[in-house]
Amino acid sequence: MSFPCTKCGQCCMNISKVEQLIDYHSGNGICIFYRENVGCKIYQNRPDVCRIDEGYIKFFSSHMSIQEFYQKNAQVCNQLQEEKGMNQQYRVVL
Ligand code: SF4
Repeated sequence: MSFPCTKCGQCCMNISKVEQLIDYHSGNGICIFYRENVGCKIYQNRPDVCRIDEGYIKFFSSHMSIQEFYQKNAQVCNQLQEEKGMNQQYRVVL
């Protein structure tokens, strides 16, 4: 199973708390490579922390199982979407 990302873009617009992406925003938390209705401009070359499975292996595999990691990610995705009033169609369902 891979993480069922719905490409809502909320993770790209809320990176201010991600230590590894400190140089990827201009103080507003929105990634400088994110374009509305387009998505990530550097998708093929995006950092590991932006890749769910690679990010898990590199940063979180010693702390939790992949299932737990997916659950935590899905919670954050859905919470960000709800805060922005996004349509239900974007919710991540595991
Ligand atoms: S917030 Fe979640 S569902 Fe939305 S683009 Fe990021 S990983 Fe995908």
